[in-house]
Amino acid sequence: MKYYSTNAQAPMATLEKAVVKGLAEDKGLYMPERIVALPQEFYDNIQDMSFQEIAFQVAQAFFGEDIPADDLKQIVYDTLSFDVPAVRVEDRIYSLELFHGPTLAFKDVGARFMARLLGYFNRQSSPLPTSPRGGAESTVNVLVATSGDTGSAVANGFLGVPGIHVYVLYPKGKVSPIQECQFTTLGQNITAIEVDGVFDDCQALVKSAFMDEELNQHMRLTSANSINVARFLPQSFYYFYAYAQLKKLGLADKVVACVPSGNFGNICSALFGKKMGLPIHRFIAANNANDIFYQYLQTGQYEPKASQQTIANAMDVGDPSNFARIYDLYGKDHKAICKDIAGATYSDSQIADTMRQCLADTGYQLDPHGACGYRALKEGLKDDEVGFFLETAHPAKFKQVVDDICHTDVEIPARLQAFMEGTKQSVPMSRVFADFKQYLLGR
Ligand SMILES: *Cc1c(COP(=O)(O)O)cnc(C)c1O
Repeated sequence: MKYYSTNAQAPMATLEKAVVKGLAEDKGLYMPERIVALPQEFYDNIQDMSFQEIAFQVAQAFFGEDIPADDLKQIVYDTLSFDVPAVRVEDRIYSLELFHGPTLAFKDVGARFMARLLGYFNRQSSPLPTSPRGGAESTVNVLVATSGDTGSAVANGFLGVPGIHVYVLYPKGKVSPIQECQFTTLGQNITAIEVDGVFDDCQALVKSAFMDEELNQHMRLTSANSINVARFLPQSFYYFYAYAQLKKLGLADKVVACVPSGNFGNICSALFGKKMGLPIHRFIAANNANDIFYQYLQTGQYEPKASQQTIANAMDVGDPSNFARIYDLYGKDHKAICKDIAGATYSDSQIADTMRQCLADTGYQLDPHGACGYRALKEGLKDDEVGFFLETAHPAKFKQVVDDICHTDVEIPARLQAFMEGTKQSVPMSRVFADFKQYLLGR
């Protein structure tokens, strides 16, 4: 399968190139040239298949031409070592809990899949011919800048994968202690770099590194950005499995999927699922106060803004990158987009009210991101529909906010606790590129 750029000014890429490069030369996002519909038989039997079995079928439709079935199966099964249950919250409303992975957030699946796919390509390819050294030169070095959540998902996703070393750059003193220990205590092939600056400085260092010729001659560099096809496409597995679970309950006639959205990668993967024949009736994109997509649905105008800080901070995005993919997928047709996707936007106080109300009415503890999804679904669901919203993070990841709002003492799961007991190790770094380059050249 070849991949084209949404900007249409770059050459088609192989899967390997799309994964290693992340972004096309024309700064567009890669799209698969074909979307293969799955056979009716698959949908007829989906309710009796496991998460892994379903995901393997979906993965074959995307990656089957490029990865031998046995290898792809291994990648899928290794990635999905945890469950994604659809939990009933109230009549006709289900929470698809995406937080049972290693870092308790939905980005785990994409990060783990990408790590294993890169590991596979790395095993297939030969060392850099220009490298002066023997042996270790085939290592792929993943650079990732994080303001918190992405770093933990990527670091844990790539942990222990042979042939890959991850450098997580994060702003000193600007990530929560729970987040920090999820990528500074791992050791092995993960190096945390504590940058004396803000998130934008971390991102600038990573960008400069990718553009530096000397550095790229010295070592293989790649990014684990969320727009990477290997990170975003596997998220479609969630929607097939959610549908399967509702179908098993006899509730799959008119299914609505409601997705708390920031960069729109998650919902975009679901829209790919629909194009593959997944019978989801319609979608709702739930936003916090960053309402760019919501406004687009109302007006047909896409007007990016500076992002606003909210209590659902993983959705604080003022220019969602994957809008370009959605726009392309629907042939730039505003009407067609509005037919499949409705929107919603909530202020912090509405999010807080929703968390309290849902807890009081149903006993279900939402996190601030899931709260946007729950509310948009509850407000938007019609009488003949059944819906699920994505609970994208465990409430304990946002313990302070959740406890303040709900007057609770949310229990920290053992997995998260374990990170906090590890020893923090990081490399102090200035925000000057020459320092970072020197450090990498010395590795
Ligand atoms: C990343 C993230 C989102 C937003 O997902 P997108 O794919 O960027 O739309 C929502 N909730 C949580 C907890 C996240 O980490």
